[in-house]
Amino acid sequence: MEHAVHLKNSEALNHNVVRLTLDRPAGYAFTAGQAIDFKLPRPGLEEKVSAFTFTGLATDPHLELTIKCYPEHHGITEQVASLKAGDTVLISDPFDTVALKGPGVFIAGGTGVTPFIAVLRQLQVEKKLAGNALFHFNRTKADAFLVNEFSAMLGRDFHGVLSQEDAPGFLHGAVNADFLRTHIRDFQQPFYTCGPEGFVLAVKNALLELGADAELIDVQF
Ligand SMILES: Cc1cc2nc3c(=O)[nH]c(=O)nc-3n(C[C@H](O)[C@H](O)[C@H](O)COP(=O)(O)OP(=O)(O)OC[C@H]3O[C@@H](n4cnc5c(N)ncnc54)[C@H](O)[C@@H]3O)c2cc1C
Repeated sequence: MEHAVHLKNSEALNHNVVRLTLDRPAGYAFTAGQAIDFKLPRPGLEEKVSAFTFTGLATDPHLELTIKCYPEHHGITEQVASLKAGDTVLISDPFDTVALKGPGVFIAGGTGVTPFIAVLRQLQVEKKLAGNALFHFNRTKADAFLVNEFSAMLGRDFHGVLSQEDAPGFLHGAVNADFLRTHIRDFQQPFYTCGPEGFVLAVKNALLELGADAELIDVQF
């Protein structure tokens, strides 16, 4: 079912990632980690659909999405960048993404972190964050977002990682077996990875090389 909802607010989290706050339709339910198909009723975009993941809590009075905008695609996300309060967007019913198998290591590339934002916020409410860690890979410090929130939630178990520059407070590296071996001790725990296809396949292959159980690796792209 498609729901027409109004935008309450749009806030820039960095140079190309925005947080959208949307009115929540009466009775609309979702769980942490679920995503939706998203459309914009604008000329030229009638046939276009993008999937985005709810990043707010399932109990919040509004809906929240965290979206990376790509002007060069000339698609939905280019227009998302210019959405204003009161604009209408179309969202589907929610569908599942990440399947939780217990505390573990979350490894995200860019906006692949969105399902993990929702899951970690929910675990925080339930006081179940202990035993979880997050590695959030971005190219540069300017591409990172929500660093303060992740640090506050996870403390030393949050690792912001930059692949293309050194910056204080961040690790520097690419996702491969050497990097993971250096920063993770236990490979017999659940792993959750989400991001561009090449990124998550690199994570999965490195984890398998390091002895992780394929059944405990959740891959989303
Ligand atoms: C289940 C799921 C959940 C997701 N959740 C989120 C989320 O919460 N937040 C988020 O930011 N993203 C999320 N994504 C990714 C998101 O769906 C895409 O980034 C988004 O659909 C891109 O839309 P777009 O309008 O920019 O371009 P698209 O609709 O992908 O492409 C529009 C056109 O741009 C062109 N194009 C495509 N790629 C390129 C390129 N690299 N260079 C130049 N031109 C190109 C093509 O011609 C294409 O027709 C999720 C994806 C999935 C599958």
